[in-house]
Amino acid sequence: MVSDIQNSIIIIGGGLVGNLLHLMLESKGFSINQFEKTSKLKNRTFALTPSSVDWLKSLGLPSKFFDSLNDISSMKIFDSTLSNSVTFESDDIAKPAIAFMANEKDFNEAIEKTFKKRKTIEEIPKDYVIKNKQDQVIIETSKERYKSSIIIACDGVNSLAREKIEIKSTKHDFNQTAITFQLKVKLDNQNEAKQFFLKESILAILPIKKDLVSIVWSCNSQFYKKINSFDEKSIEDELNLTIGDFYKDIKVVSKIESFPLTMNRVESFFKDRVLLVGDAAHFIHPLAGQGLNLGIRDIITLEKIIDKKDYADIGLKGFLRKYERARKEDVAQMGFLTLGLNWIFSNKSSILSRIVGKGMSMLDKSKLLKKQLIKKATA
Ligand SMILES: Cc1cc2nc3c(=O)[nH]c(=O)nc-3n(C[C@H](O)[C@H](O)[C@H](O)COP(=O)(O)OP(=O)(O)OC[C@H]3O[C@@H](n4cnc5c(N)ncnc54)[C@H](O)[C@@H]3O)c2cc1C
Repeated sequence: MVSDIQNSIIIIGGGLVGNLLHLMLESKGFSINQFEKTSKLKNRTFALTPSSVDWLKSLGLPSKFFDSLNDISSMKIFDSTLSNSVTFESDDIAKPAIAFMANEKDFNEAIEKTFKKRKTIEEIPKDYVIKNKQDQVIIETSKERYKSSIIIACDGVNSLAREKIEIKSTKHDFNQTAITFQLKVKLDNQNEAKQFFLKESILAILPIKKDLVSIVWSCNSQFYKKINSFDEKSIEDELNLTIGDFYKDIKVVSKIESFPLTMNRVESFFKDRVLLVGDAAHFIHPLAGQGLNLGIRDIITLEKIIDKKDYADIGLKGFLRKYERARKEDVAQMGFLTLGLNWIFSNKSSILSRIVGKGMSMLDKSKLLKKQLIKKATA
């Protein structure tokens, strides 16, 4: 017989990972209390892998959301000379797309519509206290006391819950800031994304729909200082100088937002009855568009272990160890891959640049190697 406590879960954080996790756990019959601090509505754009999209379909999100996704069937990567490139194509892995572009607002609306019960999210003050007991974990505020079998912290890269339970994390500062915005451009191919590994920045151009692209521009600190002082017209001029041969009629059409870039690794994914999921557990460079996909894979793994039904209590060490073992390698690989790619392309050595250029031309000719790389990136 499952007790009320064993069936109840607290989720801290109402970002995409917290909300998707809530939806998955609700479908398994758990009773959820979700907490969020007051957060601004964001309108970012994400590249989702085909596997993430397949799982979202299994969760039952409305078909309107999937219709709104833009298929990326090819991705062209350039080095700083713009003369060496590698093209990854969905045909190489016999799939309709290598990624799908999703808008955060549409995504959140689709999640809201899928909840069976009306979801309530409560605000939680910063001075909450976490108390671990043998058979339960408690969150205490000055007004309330909430008991559950587990707390799942999805409160982002600077997770306060992680700090409170004293799980150590190591931060690697890339000394870069990503700026994101949308551009109206004349697009020949709405299904081809491009990424330019330039001398002072990494510029990703991701089509969202006809003549509209999402920009993720990861700039080193000096270049960011320059760009940050620019008005929209100067940014358009800078982009025309860099990618004017590929895109015509460039126009900034959204707010410009900035994200300082770090990589965060945690010593452990859980402590006592508190589990870290999503950016609270791992934060990586956005150059491979994988952060949210990693968070979704965290939830898929939890779902698989829950579905096996061979546990007495989801908050117990045995369950949490199984989860940690299943997630460690994927998280470490993605961290290593993004760290390595950033290092290779931001290295100023001219010898290395020439090797990279040659390597890219060779890679472009090797169907087998490209297939392996796309398989990993679309998992
Ligand atoms: C520039 C950029 C581009 C990216 N592009 C992609 C991409 O194309 N594809 C991809 O897969 N990933 C991408 N990512 C990564 C992706 O944005 C993140 O991995 C993802 O948003 C993480 O979601 P999350 O819910 O774990 O964290 P968050 O989105 O940070 O959500 C955390 C939530 O917790 C709440 N919270 C914080 N503190 C508290 C508290 N004390 N109490 C209660 N609630 C709290 C916050 O208000 C927030 O709602 C990108 C990242 C960046 C920076």
